[in-house]
Amino acid sequence: MRPEITKRCKGCGEDKPHSEYHIHQSNADGLRSKCKTCRSAENKANKERNRPYFAEYHKRNARRICERVNAWRSGLSGEKLKRYSRAVAEGGKRFRKTRKGELSTTKGNMSKLTGIPIDMIDDGVVEAKAEQLRLTRLIRSLKKGAK
Ligand SMILES: [Zn+2]
Repeated sequence: MRPEITKRCKGCGEDKPHSEYHIHQSNADGLRSKCKTCRSAENKANKERNRPYFAEYHKRNARRICERVNAWRSGLSGEKLKRYSRAVAEGGKRFRKTRKGELSTTKGNMSKLTGIPIDMIDDGVVEAKAEQLRLTRLIRSLKKGAK
């Protein structure tokens, strides 16, 4: 077996394989600086911390929010209205799917990008995609420099 390429997480400080990080195009290595476990914990904590604020905000502004949404929605017609209804229907489904498959986001993305079934995607494929991102970015920066 080839040695696994790892990266140190800025959150927990552990060395983890690249498949344990979400893809993040604007980072130099194409991956998040914190591992999936750390980011998930962080997101949960933030959501929990902000919950009273948003609950209070919605209660205080319920009427205004409702009016604004209704006004915007009633301005939609024809193709726009159709697209909006479809997005609402699909968005709900998509959200539920993401919540369930939270841990396999990177491999799920790879599967979507490459068309390879998700159970056939190993860390090598993730690594290859990260390398491709690195090269694309390098080429872009070289092109920018040449101008
Ligand atoms: Zn971590």
